[in-house]
Amino acid sequence: DLPVRVRMVVGNWKMHGSLALCREMVPAMASIAHPAAALVLCPPAPYLGEVTRLATGSQVQCCAQNVADAHGGALTGEWSAGMLADLGCRYAIVGHSERRRHYHESDHLVAAKAQACLEAHVVPIVCVGESWIEHQTGQTEAILQHQLGTLLALSGWRGLIIAYEPVWAIGTGVAARPETIEAAHRFIRSRFAARDPVAGNNMTVLYGGSVNASNAANLFALPDVDGALVGSASLQSDALMQIYTAA
Ligand code: PGA
Repeated sequence: DLPVRVRMVVGNWKMHGSLALCREMVPAMASIAHPAAALVLCPPAPYLGEVTRLATGSQVQCCAQNVADAHGGALTGEWSAGMLADLGCRYAIVGHSERRRHYHESDHLVAAKAQACLEAHVVPIVCVGESWIEHQTGQTEAILQHQLGTLLALSGWRGLIIAYEPVWAIGTGVAARPETIEAAHRFIRSRFAARDPVAGNNMTVLYGGSVNASNAANLFALPDVDGALVGSASLQSDALMQIYTAA
């Protein structure tokens, strides 16, 4: 299947929120969600069932923040992509920098998780991005090239969504500059396009890192940015609504 570029706003709550927030946020978002742009919420795993239930019949979609690299087994504490599909959860974030850092997820594990998602018909939103040191020393493209290399080895790479998340822009309140973002997105797209021009140019590439209600419109105006992966601003319905409206 050929990918199609999709306008998309993905709200990653990280380890925040509550049942009460699910019950406030999903109906609020459902009241503005529109088929022209996907509106996706990533609550912590214990709330995935509640969010998918509340979102049924609306344009709001559900996404896990993490997923196992296996389809089942004696793996206490893990959940599979098949279980997410069973729940009606269409997406999973894979390889967020916080998981790479705190839980030592390697490019190899990230690719295996993405593969498990593809096999279960869950769309992996794979995060890539360089650290501040790597950014400062001009290594951004080399890091991205390496991270994308493992993903390009997957036969199903055309089914991935990529989120460019410079680690230094996450949770800092300061997003990367538009020209930095556009250059990284163009580079990411070019790596896929080198393999298959049509598919590469149709990949959905999101930006993440301090996206908020005031910078979202400028971001969405960039030609190679399809949408945003939003962290802290996704915990407030007003902010998330404004970002979604800008998309
Ligand atoms: P932030 O997080 O919007 O709070 O910077 C983004 C992310 O980690 O996905």
